[in-house]
Amino acid sequence: MFDHARFFADKIAELKQEGRYRVFAELERTAGAFPRAKNHCADGIKEITVWCSNDYLGMGQNAQVLAAMHQAIDKYGAGAGGTRNISGTNHCHVVLERELAELHGTEAALVFGSGWVANMTSLSTIGALMPDCIILSDEKNHNSMIEGMRHSKADKKIFRHNDPAHLEELLAECDPDRPKLVTFESVYSMDGDISPIARFVELAEKYGAMTYLDEVHAVGMYGPRGAGVAAREGVADRITIIQGTLAKAFGVVGGYIAGAAALCDVVRSYGSGFIFSTSMPPAVAAAALASLRYLRDHDELRDRHQERAAELKRRLTEAGLPVMPSESHIVPVLVGDPRLCKEASDALLEGFGIYVQPINYPTVPRGTERLRFSPTPLHGDDDMDRLIAALTAVWGRLGLKAAA
Ligand SMILES: *Cc1c(COP(=O)(O)O)cnc(C)c1O
Repeated sequence: MFDHARFFADKIAELKQEGRYRVFAELERTAGAFPRAKNHCADGIKEITVWCSNDYLGMGQNAQVLAAMHQAIDKYGAGAGGTRNISGTNHCHVVLERELAELHGTEAALVFGSGWVANMTSLSTIGALMPDCIILSDEKNHNSMIEGMRHSKADKKIFRHNDPAHLEELLAECDPDRPKLVTFESVYSMDGDISPIARFVELAEKYGAMTYLDEVHAVGMYGPRGAGVAAREGVADRITIIQGTLAKAFGVVGGYIAGAAALCDVVRSYGSGFIFSTSMPPAVAAAALASLRYLRDHDELRDRHQERAAELKRRLTEAGLPVMPSESHIVPVLVGDPRLCKEASDALLEGFGIYVQPINYPTVPRGTERLRFSPTPLHGDDDMDRLIAALTAVWGRLGLKAAA
């Protein structure tokens, strides 16, 4: 008979052998003290500084966001009470969708339980509904987009990362009569590079394709009022669908798409991941809305965020550490080996109270294993001093490669 227990144990042993077994740090985030947190480790609870949070602007502890969340819990209770169709559409969801659409300058928006579900549901629904659809996908697109495209069963062509010439080559091969969808991100979160959105939009228009842009690592942080990179480049109105998250810069949880009313209505009406799942708690929607409103009015937070990222890159370079080129707030530092990457991360946490998760294959290609720092407006100069000193010590102790 098949040994089920053995099978699962072997699958885990395989990961451990390859150095790919994931160990989660058990944290206590501390509202009001971010990026400080407590870490539950074998020898007790230790204070640490978080350097790899996706709460990019610290909005997870913003006073107005917390107040909105508290008030909504007192007013509406804990849960939403159903799927959107069956008693689960609260006033908060509707207002949030209206203001997301307003932020992106679109007719409509649709909210999901997470950004992952937003991508999975929207791409699988659109790709499956359009007859004989071809999807053209950037090779570095996020797992949630890949799963959505795969689930749609539409034909797929993959273009080289951020490469308009290759995209055009593939578009030119497509039958002009078939519906086409070009999918890509604005900020890619592992390298911190930014896609040539305007070029992709021009090509999509030339070949009659729709565009689907994941702005998860940009909304709240780039563009006027935090509307994203497409808005910054002045091409947001030419993107068919903008997708975003409420979990990263907005500091709460949830995902969404924004686009034409009919398109959002189609995903609302046909998308399983939207229809058959309980809507987010009203307090979550209220908190996300408060965060969106706050960030619309606070350019200085975006300026400070960019200044912090530039400052960290400058200091790493000055210290001879191999900071990888990045056009955004993401600051990757190359290690180039999975075991050393994990060892460096462990040494930083245990010896210096600095928490940065190692990023290994399959998240990034083998040989490019790295530490990925996300400095926030709340990381001070003193935090950076301690970080650089710790990295210099760990680099020396482990014999890691310096900057080329
Ligand atoms: C994190 C992420 C998502 C998923 O968003 P969640 O709200 O965390 O589910 C989607 N796309 C990209 C590029 C991401 O990095």
